Amino acid sequence: MTKVYIKTFGCQMNVYDSERMAGVLGASDFEVTDDEKEAEYVVINTCSGRQHAEDRALSYIGAAIKNKKVIVAGCMAERMQDELMAKFPRLHAVVGTFNFSNITSAINRGKKKIFAGVTEEKYPVKLRRNEKVRGYITIMQGCDNYCAYCIVPYVRGRERSRDVEGILAEISQLATDGFKEVMFLGQNVNSFLDEKTNTNFSGLLRKSAEIPGIERIRFMTSHPKDLSDELIESISATPKVCKHVHLPLQSGSDRILKIMNRHYTAEWYLSRVRKIREAMPGGAITTDILVGFPGETDEDFQQTLEVMRKAGFDASYIFQYSPRRGTKAALMESQLDEKTKLARLNNVLELQKKISEDITKSYLGRKVEILVTGPNMVVKGMMEGITDNSKKVIIPGDGSMTGKFFRVKVIRAQTAIMEGEILK
Ligand code: SF4
Repeated sequence: MTKVYIKTFGCQMNVYDSERMAGVLGASDFEVTDDEKEAEYVVINTCSGRQHAEDRALSYIGAAIKNKKVIVAGCMAERMQDELMAKFPRLHAVVGTFNFSNITSAINRGKKKIFAGVTEEKYPVKLRRNEKVRGYITIMQGCDNYCAYCIVPYVRGRERSRDVEGILAEISQLATDGFKEVMFLGQNVNSFLDEKTNTNFSGLLRKSAEIPGIERIRFMTSHPKDLSDELIESISATPKVCKHVHLPLQSGSDRILKIMNRHYTAEWYLSRVRKIREAMPGGAITTDILVGFPGETDEDFQQTLEVMRKAGFDASYIFQYSPRRGTKAALMESQLDEKTKLARLNNVLELQKKISEDITKSYLGRKVEILVTGPNMVVKGMMEGITDNSKKVIIPGDGSMTGKFFRVKVIRAQTAIMEGEILK
């Protein structure tokens, strides 16, 4: 059998796309291997989110192409089709973001053919999964929001939701394979809508929760403008749905939010935080913050810090703005210097560290339920588990505990990962 190795760059949605391609290849005449050395073909699934991610992928392609047949897939393939072909004349194929399900014909036909362009998107029910406890499922692709700094709508296309039937079949398969958790992925899961069955995201959550064997349902990412009271209440009212909302803030300044094209104000954002706290006491809220957007003044930046203090995020993914060719923000004249951006980044990191530490400390002595996901990679002999609200807790144990639930008491809570002891 022809062996294929898949290398993935970028976010969890890319990991899912790679699992999807591996599923398609596995169902055909290919064997997907974890050992790049023994592969005849290397599929490189790329990310265009940041320049750094593209640079890493380019250097990976340069190295792999010396002795493998290389296929470049994903966002960078979509964005740079001709550029990639010109830069790497020996490329076997380039596969765009609408064409993952055509990976076998890309390999079979080769000839540097570009497969970009809209085709019918097919999702195999059985993917080749990297994890054993949590299964990721992309429920929608693309984005209609056109935030000024973001390349996604250009490389992933307009928003389109999958049909509920296919998603439920995939969840059932996960349950059959022993998975306990699913995580729904999408650029904006709140606006999920299966038009055929008129099922919105709340409906999908409810239907998914009926599938036996799956004990927890998570989702990411929510857009603040689409997080309605009704949806917050559905999350709260469905016991299997984890009480954790990832809600990107980006900026706390209304002026910057407007230029970013985010379609909400700081006050609307905080109203979402209050509603989540009210509906899900003890739930977690995490966020994304983008510092150093063009034209961001010190006053704008202080407003971001203020919203962070008010919201009390459990964790934040903090990014320093870097221009992405093809986006509106890249053309704005008021780009900030690197020193200012870096200083603000450090400021935000410091504030979040303090907030997260205070939250973590409040867990000392508390009893929580965790789902063990596997061994902890840092402390030998410890297993790692996750609470409903996404807190990581390590406990002594072995591989037989993976995929099982335990009640534990938190006995150490200094760093982001807590330590617990199992309650009898
Ligand atoms: S919502 Fe904005 S940041 Fe998120 S994917 Fe869409 S355009 Fe990008």
